[in-house]
Amino acid sequence: MIMQLQSQWFLRWVLPACASFVLCGLLFISLSWAAARSDEVAVLRQRDLVTLTVAKLKAGIAHDQESATVWDDAVRNARAANIEWIDANLGSWMHSYFGHDTALVLTSDLVPLYQFSADVDFAPTTGDLRGAYLPLAETLRTRLTAGDTEGTGDKILSIGETDLSYVGFRPAIVSVKPIVSDTGDVEQAAGSEMLHVAVRFLDGDLPTVIGKEYEFSELQFSAKRPRDRNLAFVPLKGRDGEIFGYFEWKPFRPGHHVLEATTPALILAFVALFAGSSLAGGAIWRRTERLAASRAELSHQASHDALTGLANRARFNEELNRQLREASDDERHTVLFVDLDRFKAVNDTFGHPVGDKLISLAAARMRDLIPEALIARIGGDEFTILLQGDDALVAEELADTLVHGLKAPFEIETAHVVIGASVGVAFTRGPCDPAELTRKADIALYHAKAAGRNTYAIFGDHMDELLRKRRALENDLRSAVETCSQIETFYQPVFSASNGKLCSLEALARWNHPTLGYISPDQFIPLAEEMGLIREIGSLVLEDACRTLAELPEITVAVNASARELEAPGYALRVLATLARSNLRPDRLEIEMTESATTDNDSELGRTISTLRAAGVRFAIDDFGTGYSSFSRVQRVEIDRIKIDKSFVDEMHRSDSRALVVAMIDMARAKGLKITAEGVETAEQREALERLGCDDLQGFLLSRPLPREAAIAYVSGATLGSVKPTLRPT
Ligand code: C2E
Ligand code: CA
Ligand code: CA
Repeated sequence: MIMQLQSQWFLRWVLPACASFVLCGLLFISLSWAAARSDEVAVLRQRDLVTLTVAKLKAGIAHDQESATVWDDAVRNARAANIEWIDANLGSWMHSYFGHDTALVLTSDLVPLYQFSADVDFAPTTGDLRGAYLPLAETLRTRLTAGDTEGTGDKILSIGETDLSYVGFRPAIVSVKPIVSDTGDVEQAAGSEMLHVAVRFLDGDLPTVIGKEYEFSELQFSAKRPRDRNLAFVPLKGRDGEIFGYFEWKPFRPGHHVLEATTPALILAFVALFAGSSLAGGAIWRRTERLAASRAELSHQASHDALTGLANRARFNEELNRQLREASDDERHTVLFVDLDRFKAVNDTFGHPVGDKLISLAAARMRDLIPEALIARIGGDEFTILLQGDDALVAEELADTLVHGLKAPFEIETAHVVIGASVGVAFTRGPCDPAELTRKADIALYHAKAAGRNTYAIFGDHMDELLRKRRALENDLRSAVETCSQIETFYQPVFSASNGKLCSLEALARWNHPTLGYISPDQFIPLAEEMGLIREIGSLVLEDACRTLAELPEITVAVNASARELEAPGYALRVLATLARSNLRPDRLEIEMTESATTDNDSELGRTISTLRAAGVRFAIDDFGTGYSSFSRVQRVEIDRIKIDKSFVDEMHRSDSRALVVAMIDMARAKGLKITAEGVETAEQREALERLGCDDLQGFLLSRPLPREAAIAYVSGATLGSVKPTLRPT
């Protein structure tokens, strides 16, 4: 159970969570990697851009200067020290037009002639400016003197010197250009040119302007290398190659942005993946469960009986084998074989649904009676029970409990169905051969049945002897039937209750065994039925009965037929042929069958009965009242007579039994059936039955069954009441 829960939990939650986590994690890692890569590239590009911008800026300032320094007017006015003109064109104009922060005009001796500062409050001192431009100015003057024109062309009109430099503490781009003639009309000796200095501070509004133009966020100058890892920076190098300072900015990281933008989608994907896989896990789990259940169901079906839910024979044998194989030396095992008595009668009479219901009720009752045992159904109405660790006393008690428990009526569809059970018990100590144990239980069961059913028997070694005897008896019966020698027919007279006259004879089979003497049909008829010899015996009795009847004109004869005989194909024809051979009218023959043999008209048996009745043969229900159908069944089956069973006659002194007999007689009268009472042994019984209106009487009081010759002799002068001696034992 815990295992199941664990795996359900695992399939529904743990696995989906792990799978989603791993998948989304991998996705996230790849996205982050890609983002980092693209950010790296972006930052590199931004650095390049900043470097380029600074270079362009430097070139741009020099270019700006050229717009006013390469000009005849500028040369003239500078020379003339026209400060107003200089301010308007080389100072404040440069600021307002190009944004230069500071401008200077130097004489050829590098002495400032004019100085302009945009920010009056924070104007650099002359000394600071000098420190910044002097090296550049000196270099430029040297180059001018040398007539160096390197770097000039269509776009760059004059040579110049530009560098990054500190003006005081302020970083700046400082550019120095000569003030020269644009037309060549104003002559100047090389090296005598006046110079123009432009300063653009890097810590002022310049970074902001560049930042806006190129979309750099928070671009600013830093003298020291930035430590904030979130910032990108690029070193600014002076002419000497030394790092002068840094431009730092908050870089635009496109990958990071994409990652940020995709994170909610990723979370959604995680949730969806988790939900999906959890659902799939749940479905797989349910499917697995169903499969496991159906597998369990299949294996249950393979090892259990569908009707009762009990174990089946295979399962029982498997468990028996296992337990006996593993048994320790002093471990005890008990096997009980249970056979329901009269189940077949119920099944035949009420039909299979009721039979099935009865079996399952009986199974449930057994389970209630011995809950600790393994109970199996091994056949129609046969059960086996396996118990561990019981001795003879307990086993006996159990068997007794079962026999008593199964005697109690079963309620099926408002009917009380009373059956019973025969139980065979065998037990063993220590390991033993399972087949041997079940064989013993089976033999014990046979004994219980032979002892009149509704009882139990515990296997004893003597039973083996009895079994051997039974086998011998079977052999003997087979040869007796084959040789037609030892089966004899006795005849019990039946008298009319109204006039006391003998009206009929009932033919009863006897087996005159060469060594054992007369064997009762109660013993050998069931044996013959089991061995499939009943048809032959029935034929022998019928033939004898017909021969006897042929010698006795007035009366009729009754023969007993078991259900198996009646069901056998060709029975009707055989009976009619036998009658014909003895030249007898069919209406002189009555066939007695038990209630369980009675059936619906459209069955094979029903057709046999119809055929024979149509020919004139009459039918009686024997042992009437002992079956289940009695009343209801008689309504449906075509018969002519009922024979009230001896057990009711025996109990006639009891008012309830008498009431039953009265009910049977009333019912038969209403249906127009004849009534015979069997087993009449006392004068009281005879009187009572006569009073109640029985048609015919049969019993030891009137006559025992007689051998053929004696019966013939007897018939000649017999009347009711004359007690005749029995010539042979019954
Ligand atoms: P059944 O058909 O009910 O036959 C009546 C049985 O009751 C006979 O026993 C008879 O001897 C016995 N009986 C009659 N009157 C009395 C009485 O006053 N007291 C006592 N205690 N018993 C009495 P039997 O001959 O031993 O036959 C036993 C059963 O064997 C029969 O019961 C019948 O069911 C069966 N049977 C006998 N012969 C045949 C046969 O040829 N074919 C078939 N299928 N069954 C037969
Ligand atoms: Ca009979
Ligand atoms: Ca009977």
